[in-house]
Amino acid sequence: MYTDKTLTCADCGQQFVFTASEQDFYAQRGFTEPRRCPTDRAARKAARQSSGAGYSSGYGEAGSYGGGGGYSSGGSYSSGGYDRGPREMFSATCSNCGNEARVPFRPTSGKPVYCSDCFRSMRG
Ligand SMILES: [Zn+2]
Ligand SMILES: [Zn+2]
Repeated sequence: MYTDKTLTCADCGQQFVFTASEQDFYAQRGFTEPRRCPTDRAARKAARQSSGAGYSSGYGEAGSYGGGGGYSSGGSYSSGGYDRGPREMFSATCSNCGNEARVPFRPTSGKPVYCSDCFRSMRG
């Protein structure tokens, strides 16, 4: 089994805890150890997503930080800024086929929303 590990972030040099449950999660998906702290990972992910429509391959990462408050050192995670639950999904009606579309952002009226099938076929 796994035990909590302390890793050093390749970006900011801060130490962060790679918890046992995260290690298990990563191992199950064949991921290598994270090289960056959750803050930098979230920042990079946000940067990546802002250039697309939010449909990046980053799905699934969000649920991995349930592992029990290991982020006490450094004090930067104090005020609930870090979302530890699964990503909130909103349901909407696909503008193309009318099926239910589940999107990770709140659908704004006037903007077309597509279900994953239509989104994929539109992308080619
Ligand atoms: Zn960092
Ligand atoms: Zn559709």
